[in-house]
Amino acid sequence: MKNDGAFNPFAVAQKQFDRIADMLELDSATRALLREPVREYHVSIPVRMDDGRVEVFRGFRVQHNDALGPCKGGIRFHPQETVDTIRALSMWMTWKCAVVGIPLGGAKGGVICDPHHLSAREQEGICRGWVRQLARVVGPVADVPAPDVMTNAEHMLWMLDEFEAIYGGRHPGFITGKPVGMGGSLGRTEATGYGLVFVLREALKERGIEIGETSAAVQGFGNVAQYAVELYGMMGGKVTTISCWDQFACSAFAYHRKEGIDLDELRGVTDRFGGIDQEKAQSLGYELIPGEAWLEQDVDILIPAALENQITYESVGRMSPRVKLIVEGANGPTAPEADTLLTARGVEAIPDLLANAGGVTCSYFEQVQSNMNFYWPRDEVQGRLDTTMTDAYLAVSDLAKSRGLSLRDAAYVIAVDRVARACKDRGWV
Ligand code: NAD
Repeated sequence: MKNDGAFNPFAVAQKQFDRIADMLELDSATRALLREPVREYHVSIPVRMDDGRVEVFRGFRVQHNDALGPCKGGIRFHPQETVDTIRALSMWMTWKCAVVGIPLGGAKGGVICDPHHLSAREQEGICRGWVRQLARVVGPVADVPAPDVMTNAEHMLWMLDEFEAIYGGRHPGFITGKPVGMGGSLGRTEATGYGLVFVLREALKERGIEIGETSAAVQGFGNVAQYAVELYGMMGGKVTTISCWDQFACSAFAYHRKEGIDLDELRGVTDRFGGIDQEKAQSLGYELIPGEAWLEQDVDILIPAALENQITYESVGRMSPRVKLIVEGANGPTAPEADTLLTARGVEAIPDLLANAGGVTCSYFEQVQSNMNFYWPRDEVQGRLDTTMTDAYLAVSDLAKSRGLSLRDAAYVIAVDRVARACKDRGWV
């Protein structure tokens, strides 16, 4: 993503913040502090490649704010990574942690690289090099990284191993997203999707709607979407349509079955990137429709769980009048101009910072377990996740009702207010 004036995610994040800062009437010092990261690091990582050359990769760690606790946020590997994307994501992490009330701040990291063209040994070199450059400013009580785009549990373990080689001893609380059995938490894989359904359940309960009488269409069939569909189905909901990316056709397609999809059956014909095999799905009786048609379905709930900027001013007009709720599994799936139109149509959006916060909440649980070196059973992890997500939803909904705000504005008001107060209480502003 080039920051050539067309789309700068950090400018978008700052604009969102300015609006909420106006609503909260924040003083100028608090605004100046919160609209920029408190610290950012730019590093160069030399790696000896398999052919003997040394290649130097550029990496970042941006710590937006740590007033509420140690920073938390993923590390992305992406060939088009920019520091402005990382800055925006670090700010959004601050608000996400704050809205669910976990004692963590926001950070994000990245390396400009394309893992598709790197061997495992070269990727290990980048991971270890990133930690060597940043070991002094990250760690269990300062800043706890996690996997993100194109990084996984294996990368986290290499990073942990390097950190422990530098400091000696074992420090599993340095990083999250580790494999279960190596300091990972049970329940982390399903946490984002399940967390989304916990807030959806509360939203329906408030509106007096039985979840078993609702239907949904979902964009995406990766980690977030599959576990959201799983728990929603277990609670009695019916998913009629799933849209996903077909890497062979270089296009998105949606799979539709009026009486409801069978999750296990569809999982059986899906690759590890969340792409459904067209031929196999059709042979199972699914109707193949264009990818964008997921949001035109006659359903009660839409769950965007793939990409940003999918629900636009233009696409709102194509939605069925039956749609009442949008639950944002992806980050930033709704364009800001679409929000007003949705409100005018009586459609409510449960915003990303709340709806997909189950992932970071469970990462926090992993951090707590790692620091204690004592691991909880899956039921305990899921029970605590349910309580955290439910409490956060109810607080956002109460504020929205009492102040006449959208759920999105209410979530931002709670988050920004908590962080601003923490800065003030610490005497920073
Ligand atoms: P994933 O890579 O596992 O799955 C992505 C899915 O989106 C795949 O099924 C892919 O086919 C589909 N997709 C891609 N382009 C598409 C298109 N144009 N139309 C339809 N489908 C398309 O990713 P994920 O981990 O499930 O994350 C999905 C979203 O949720 C991202 O925005 C991510 O930032 C956000 N998120 C993820 C987590 C997490 O814990 N995984 C936490 C918070 C937010």
